[in-house]
Amino acid sequence: MAEAVSKKGKLIVISGPSGVGKGTICAEVCRRLPSVYINVSATTRPKAASEVNGREYWFVSAAEFEGLKKDGKLLEYAEVFGNMYGTPREGVDRALSEGKTVILEIDVQGGRSVKSVYPEAVSIFILPPDTKELERRLEGRGRETIEAAQRRLQKAGKEMGEAEKFYDYKVVNDNLEKAIQRVIGIISNIDGEKR
Ligand code: 5GP
Repeated sequence: MAEAVSKKGKLIVISGPSGVGKGTICAEVCRRLPSVYINVSATTRPKAASEVNGREYWFVSAAEFEGLKKDGKLLEYAEVFGNMYGTPREGVDRALSEGKTVILEIDVQGGRSVKSVYPEAVSIFILPPDTKELERRLEGRGRETIEAAQRRLQKAGKEMGEAEKFYDYKVVNDNLEKAIQRVIGIISNIDGEKR
């Protein structure tokens, strides 16, 4: 579900399977393009030891998440792997009204919601070179159990099928630097020819 947002800057949706490296790509794009703002989502998922509240996510309770929803503070939200994830709208509105480029790193359900209320949003799907590589990266991350990694792989397969249909751009992360350059190229050329 998503609600309309005031806009002046560009809104970019970046999605891709867990383990594909989209977090690294987004962080690097943000570092290299000063006008880019990466929005921090809220989630009810437990915080991993390596994560910091307010950096990767705002880690909130289920009741707090419900409150954000009820008060209309979320631009979109979705349930992913049994936890809620949502985009707080305040920072997005502010950055867009300042003419910044806002990146939302969200899943395909969220991407669809954002597109429905903001068709000008540009969507980029990050793909792994192949599924074997994705399996290797997910296992190497060691952040979750084998079962959880399997669930993420299943979702990856489904999302990749859906992304084919409605994402504007697909970027294969077979080489990190090339993938970063490709995303920067897309963002920089949005005012020109799209697709
Ligand atoms: P993770 O728990 O691995 O960080 O994220 C799981 C999934 O949730 C990823 O596909 C990520 O893109 C997605 N996600 C993160 N934040 C949001 C959000 O605010 N909204 C939606 N719809 N998905 C999100």
